[in-house]
Amino acid sequence: AFTMANVPEAPEDPLYRLMREYRQDTNEKKIDLGIGAYRDEHGKPWVLPVVKKAEALLQTPEFNHEYLPIRGLDSFLAAAQRLMLGNDSPAIHENRISSMQTVSGTGAVHLGATFISRFCRGTERPKALISDPTWPNHYQIFSQSEFDVQYYPYYSVETQKIDIKAMIRCLEEAPSKSLVVLQGCAHNPTGLDPSKEEWSQIADVMAEKGHLPFFDNAYQGFASGDLTQDSWACRYFIGRGFECCIAQSFAKNLGMYGERVGTFHYICSPSPDASHIADRISSQLAILQRAHISNPPAYGAHIASRVLNDPELFAQWQHELGIMSSRLTKVREEIRSKLEARETPGSWAFLSTQIGMFSYTGLSKDQIRLLKSKWHIYMTENGRISVAGLNPNNMEYFIDAVDDVVR
Ligand code: PMP
Repeated sequence: AFTMANVPEAPEDPLYRLMREYRQDTNEKKIDLGIGAYRDEHGKPWVLPVVKKAEALLQTPEFNHEYLPIRGLDSFLAAAQRLMLGNDSPAIHENRISSMQTVSGTGAVHLGATFISRFCRGTERPKALISDPTWPNHYQIFSQSEFDVQYYPYYSVETQKIDIKAMIRCLEEAPSKSLVVLQGCAHNPTGLDPSKEEWSQIADVMAEKGHLPFFDNAYQGFASGDLTQDSWACRYFIGRGFECCIAQSFAKNLGMYGERVGTFHYICSPSPDASHIADRISSQLAILQRAHISNPPAYGAHIASRVLNDPELFAQWQHELGIMSSRLTKVREEIRSKLEARETPGSWAFLSTQIGMFSYTGLSKDQIRLLKSKWHIYMTENGRISVAGLNPNNMEYFIDAVDDVVR
């Protein structure tokens, strides 16, 4: 008879294992620096007041829980396009974008990967290039979508900076028409983004090789605190006429992690036929979407649509994003100044140059293990800390711990 008895056991996802270990730790001084979710200065999740307001506005007698269309909520999708590309984007006005609402950023990367893998021409498996290091799910998603996944150099341990030369060389040597995953801003896990000059070098080599940029934008508003500035890289590539994929997540910037609000956009390069191509792409994305999830989750999209489409709520949202991003900057500065004041061995200047939700500490595996076993401090094995996990109540304890393990 049919049996699945020989299915081998797969390892638990390292990040979710870390979260479980943290939950099970009964020490009252424990600190969670693992998952990338914002915490306020009391260490608590923060429901953005603007989200609460939008939620309250939804509660009319007409509100219901009906299905959305396959593509998602139109008012949300249109606003999401404008947020990422700008109100005056020619791509929007020329109708050369196909957009689908997705199960947050993960669903957007997945839908895009599935689509490209299915429809790119050629007999060989398409190549996907992802940064070394990157969000671990990039590897999983693209390899499960039949891509041959390779890493391009990104972070240099020696300089604690982006190794732009090595990155460019790798993109140059890759087979032409490779898919290249780029993080639009606030790179996870390094907290380091290319400068505008470096983005233009990346665009040059990508144009020369005919590569497809696939932007993963999970942190718009978290890099600079400014939504427009944080979409600069995407807009720049689109402005140069690239055909382009964008995965957009509202998990972090609206603090709606569990509601799974996101979009996938495929932007066609300018041509007389571009809007027809975009229509055909939309028709295929709809087939994939129907088979995956039928239609995307509605509740979070309704909230996001309110915030994005109402000028007053939008202004409030920008203000609240500023609160989150400036707290993270302040925490970074504090870690640095406290470690320097202690004369903790090592160079801590990187803390002020890195941006976004994470800091890449360069702590060794042994030090990270010791932080967990002796100090009950939980961070991922690559030495990344989610800066939001620190606050005035646990900062000194964290500094004591780091000082202890590096000495
Ligand atoms: N991309 C990157 C780079 C991320 O860091 C994350 C969240 N950890 C995501 C995508 C997806 O997040 P979500 O599915 O929650 O939107």
